[in-house]
Amino acid sequence: MKVFLEEIFIMFVKKIELDYRIPRRVTTIRKITQYYFPVCPKCNCTMEREYQSYCDRCGQALRWKEFSFVKASIDTKVYK
Ligand SMILES: [Zn+2]
Repeated sequence: MKVFLEEIFIMFVKKIELDYRIPRRVTTIRKITQYYFPVCPKCNCTMEREYQSYCDRCGQALRWKEFSFVKASIDTKVYK
């Protein structure tokens, strides 16, 4: 029984690790004072730098493919 529970635990941990390694899209930016910061899709924290491979707070792998589009659309709204 103990071994069985350990196996389940290991599977559970592996599943969490896998979730973190699958890159999530960054599609949100948040305005703080006059600056915009990308928002981590996992922990919802703002990140200091754009195009970082992982969130420095929760370790979530990030995908930036759609990010330039999001940023461009918001930039237009702000500066026009
Ligand atoms: Zn995060």
